[in-house]
Amino acid sequence: MKTEQVIEQLSMRFPNEPEYIQAVTEVLHSIEPVYNQHPEFEAANLIERLCIPDRILSFRVTWTDDKGQVQTNMGYRIQHNNAIGPYKGGLRFHASVNLSILKFLAFEQTFKNALTTLPMGGAKGGSDFSPRGKSNTEVMRFCQAFMTELWRNIGPDTDVPAGDIGVGGREVGFLYGMYKKLARENTGTLTGKGLEFGGSLIRPEATGYGNVYFLKHMLATRSLDLKGKVVAVSGAGNVAQYTVDKLIQEGAKVVTLSDSDGYIYDPDGIDREKLDYIMELKNLYRGRMWEYAEKYGVKYVAGARPWSEKCDIAMPSATQNEITAEDAQTLVSNGCIAVSEGANMPSTPDAIKIFQTAGLLYAPGKASNAGGVSVSGLEMSQNAMKRAWSAEEVDQQLQRIMADIHAQCQKYGTRPDGTTDYVAGANISAFMKVARAMMAQGIL
Ligand code: GLU
Repeated sequence: MKTEQVIEQLSMRFPNEPEYIQAVTEVLHSIEPVYNQHPEFEAANLIERLCIPDRILSFRVTWTDDKGQVQTNMGYRIQHNNAIGPYKGGLRFHASVNLSILKFLAFEQTFKNALTTLPMGGAKGGSDFSPRGKSNTEVMRFCQAFMTELWRNIGPDTDVPAGDIGVGGREVGFLYGMYKKLARENTGTLTGKGLEFGGSLIRPEATGYGNVYFLKHMLATRSLDLKGKVVAVSGAGNVAQYTVDKLIQEGAKVVTLSDSDGYIYDPDGIDREKLDYIMELKNLYRGRMWEYAEKYGVKYVAGARPWSEKCDIAMPSATQNEITAEDAQTLVSNGCIAVSEGANMPSTPDAIKIFQTAGLLYAPGKASNAGGVSVSGLEMSQNAMKRAWSAEEVDQQLQRIMADIHAQCQKYGTRPDGTTDYVAGANISAFMKVARAMMAQGIL
């Protein structure tokens, strides 16, 4: 494979898709050496078949707002690759959603899901509809309209959607309700469902907890732990909330959180009581982080991200490309020792280079945030068995999976000096699994 040539060709074929090209570029650079050891891969043109999604569905979603006005949005589902299991991945509802973003997410998901040890292929979907500022009934009507188009293309053994930015328990409930009504079956086709109707314990916690479990494994390689560490977390949604929850349990001090309007800096650290307030503020009242700053009298910086604040560890848990090269340089200069990604592709390629050159422990999201989709996979198993596991059982399995992902990164990413390149490790391990599965199943 001539990596640069493949990237150039993909850029020419998909010229308006920078995020997709960014995600593909990183993976291709990592896997080039192992790919070239397997001429049979090249003979089967595996690389293009792996980079280009199996199928892209796009549709119009029409719904009526509370004023009686008819609104239209775009809806999408990218079924990227099902070599190792049914398509699996979240739905993102946000004004910024476009094909490039969903294609990058579906591509990443394929690799992430391969790392989980569970049989799941990769997919992603969503809409440029944003639930922000919408009433509950508007969100419900939108979700119902979205599902009237999507339902024929999904199912427990074909494609299993879940949440992502803008799609939480409320949206999954509405989506699943409509799916059930149309499909007339109750096999759990979406994950992230409520506990009363097939959801799994620990699913809400899974991404944040999983990220902290992964971070602990990374720190252990340098005989470090989380006690007393100062952590900057971005975001304030599901992933960020349960990252803070687990960090508090581990004795770390979380000093920042953010939303798309700005960030808060709390030098005393976010304790259990403050976290309870944040969960109520965000999940019940759908409030903003400036309200936290007002309530607790701490610093609030509008229109900025928290990376200029001094910290030992950064856990970006908001969205893609939220850490630029400049931010990365600031983090390094401030003495940051580890970056573990809760979001998908939150660091730009230049930022990653800076972290790696400086010798930081750096975990790409496809490894460190895989806990979420892992527990989605466990939710699928429970639904198929028509059973429900205890929180302890699910948490145990989550811990085992995160340990396994860390071990895979070490197996495939250990450098000659004994340190681990987690980017190479995750990409090569996932690639080899998907590649072998594709090769075994013929040219499709
Ligand atoms: N959106 C999440 C992710 O990026 C979860 C996907 C899922 O549970 O299927 O992995």
